[in-house]
Amino acid sequence: MREDHPLAVYWHPATLKHRPPDGAFKLPSCPFLATDEPHPDRPARVRNVKRVVEETFGSAVFTAADPAPRSALERVHDPDYVAWLREFAADGGGYVDGTTTAGNDATFEAARHAAGAAIAATDHALTDRPGAPYALARPSGHHAQSDRADGFCFLNNAAIAAGHALADGLDRVAIVDWDVHHGNGTQEVFEDRDDVLFVSVHNDHGAWDPTYHPQTGGLEEVGVDDGEGYTVNVPVPPGTGDRGYEAVFERLVEPIVTAYDPDLILYSAGQDPGPSDPLGRNVVTRDGFRTLGARARELAATTADGRYALLQEGGYQVSHLAFATLGVLEGATGRTFDLPEHGAGDPFAWLEEETGPLEDAVESACDHHGEFWPV
Ligand SMILES: [Zn+2]
Repeated sequence: MREDHPLAVYWHPATLKHRPPDGAFKLPSCPFLATDEPHPDRPARVRNVKRVVEETFGSAVFTAADPAPRSALERVHDPDYVAWLREFAADGGGYVDGTTTAGNDATFEAARHAAGAAIAATDHALTDRPGAPYALARPSGHHAQSDRADGFCFLNNAAIAAGHALADGLDRVAIVDWDVHHGNGTQEVFEDRDDVLFVSVHNDHGAWDPTYHPQTGGLEEVGVDDGEGYTVNVPVPPGTGDRGYEAVFERLVEPIVTAYDPDLILYSAGQDPGPSDPLGRNVVTRDGFRTLGARARELAATTADGRYALLQEGGYQVSHLAFATLGVLEGATGRTFDLPEHGAGDPFAWLEEETGPLEDAVESACDHHGEFWPV
């Protein structure tokens, strides 16, 4: 057994009590659907990741994290919004402003513990403890803007962790977001600052509500004022898989982060670029996620004195999410577990990706970001 990169998982059972009500996709105006789907953000997401980690790395890797303190939340979020979120949960939750984002009476505590797990994983990195710190956070954070919940997210865990690190004395933090959706909330929080570099690789899905969620994740959104150039969006076409993500890392993420020379890298690790994810259109397999995990560790080793943390974002095919996340953690720890061929392996590894449109997308992104970065 290799122990040079031990795994450290930060989480809290309170995150399992957050339960958005079912039915988010049975719209009243649609007569064609007879039944309510379960809400995509189900506690099973965390339960399955936890189980696959326990069955491979063992249960000793888990540490319960404290909830994030109010001061940490309010570095990122409007105090009025934090107060609203507390009241929203105290009133029993429900759907937020007619969107698919929803919660219950446990949502505020779950979100505070998710943010707390992100801070604990960041502290692991900041205190130079060995190994791979991973926050098994739920609800996710990267769509949460400074004053609103969005995209199943309530508190922006990565932004809160970055704010915590800056308050701890760091000068520059890079956030690399490979969730299949644009990290619009993280972009919004830091778009006018140069002390956080935000790089998001995502399907080119645009804004899903132009008033509530004005960010598009397009190439042209590069940050504003002092932050100009420090928001880097890399939209990739549907069907992008293992080779595509590796190409994006090699040609964009790694040279840009290296040029920025951060003190810490936070990875918004949403494994919804996996095949069959109901909310994504990409086909990254466990092998591909293992490559991302390894490259995440190596990039931190060469640019940030080895300081990094993996923060869970999305991933909604609850079976594949577990194996995809295992891949990330295998890569980060330099391990590969031999799982049985049948019934307990990665059942999605056979899918092929489309590379033609991807090459065009990478070329466009390189041309665009070449104005600011050595890509
Ligand atoms: Zn996502």
